[in-house]
Amino acid sequence: HARELSEGRDRAAVTADGVRVQLRANVELPAEAVLAREQGADGIGLYRTEFLYIDRASPPTEEQQFEIFRKVVQAMGPKPVTLRTFDIGGDKFVSTFPLPPEMNPMLGLRAVRLALSRPDVFLEHLRAMVRASAFGDVRIMIPMVAGLNELRQVRALLAQAQEEVRARGQACADEIPLGVMIEVPAAAVLVDHFAREAAFLSLGTNDLIQYALAVDRTSRSLAYLASPFDPSILRLILNVIRAGRDFSRPVCICGAMASDPLAAVLLLGLGMRDFSMEAAAIPEIKEALRRVSLAEAEQVAAEALSRATAEEVEACVAGAFAPRL
Ligand code: PEP
Ligand code: MG
Repeated sequence: HARELSEGRDRAAVTADGVRVQLRANVELPAEAVLAREQGADGIGLYRTEFLYIDRASPPTEEQQFEIFRKVVQAMGPKPVTLRTFDIGGDKFVSTFPLPPEMNPMLGLRAVRLALSRPDVFLEHLRAMVRASAFGDVRIMIPMVAGLNELRQVRALLAQAQEEVRARGQACADEIPLGVMIEVPAAAVLVDHFAREAAFLSLGTNDLIQYALAVDRTSRSLAYLASPFDPSILRLILNVIRAGRDFSRPVCICGAMASDPLAAVLLLGLGMRDFSMEAAAIPEIKEALRRVSLAEAEQVAAEALSRATAEEVEACVAGAFAPRL
């Protein structure tokens, strides 16, 4: 089986009935871009830039960030790289930002909220990304967006960063697609408005599950409740996929759910065509999707949508596909 998987690198990511899917990599460290290439990833769907801020006394400079982004973009070229603006706070602590003590850091000053509270630091970050766009297909994605105002504010700061870069005579792409992560239930509910204004949508199911089910993602005692098969999660995901279709916006999923073979097949049936996961998981998911047809996956997904509990949904999907995956 292992040899089959490693040989699968050159096989197309297509379903049994010939539907092409995109399999991208989630990357934290720049060196992982190499692994992503080796696994045949269709680009990087999530670059977790907050890792640049870890284990240092002060935030990395624009120059330091730019060098790292440029290397990642060049390593993946000409495939796209989606740079997520730093997602600091919540479960991701870094010492470079003094965060206020909060009762519920997951519900606190985190991600885009922190970025907008520190426009000086955020602009440096954005300028580094803007400059990297001169070296390949760069897209920028905002984490933990809950309302349209956050998208609009980041768009204004991104425009400012582009102007500043150009004013220095440095190169950058004319248009840098700006997308949002859909990982707060409010954004999944209002997703039609986000689809109208954002260039793309990316489902962050790790947080979406946490916030929709009110289950701390780091809790071991409650992990049994945090199921990606929960019917409430399926409905939110479907809402996002439909909005993407209605407004012709790409929809990707970059939560850990995408690297579970059963969940990936269910997502395919719900309409997902673009998956991003840790690079090491790509061969297994590719093989899983090659073993099922879209027609079957759609039929099973329709049935799964009528189930009332996570257990029932999972049993429905497993009953149809587990023997093959
Ligand atoms: C997610 O929330 O699903 C996600 C992909 O982002 P992170 O795990 O980094 O919060
Ligand atoms: Mg998240």
